[in-house]
Amino acid sequence: MKYLVVLLVIFVGVWVWRSNRIAINKDRQENFDREAERQQAKKTMVACAHCGVHLPQIEALAAPSADLRSQLWFCSTEHRQFGAKKAE
Ligand SMILES: [Zn+2]
Repeated sequence: MKYLVVLLVIFVGVWVWRSNRIAINKDRQENFDREAERQQAKKTMVACAHCGVHLPQIEALAAPSADLRSQLWFCSTEHRQFGAKKAE
């Protein structure tokens, strides 16, 4: 009976250690994904929908939009307030 208790304690210890490790690895993967996304946003150039100036996506301001494919970007808050320039 004594050995059974010792075995149970070891089993619980290993289980706790493993679940901690899984949580840490998941956290690291999420940080890595976020950093990769940031690096991609630094490299991607977007044009301001109002004045047409190009700037890195990370510095651009996104217009609230549900559709990511037709996402509009702006160089400043003023231009975001003016909205996209209408084609003449
Ligand atoms: Zn602009």
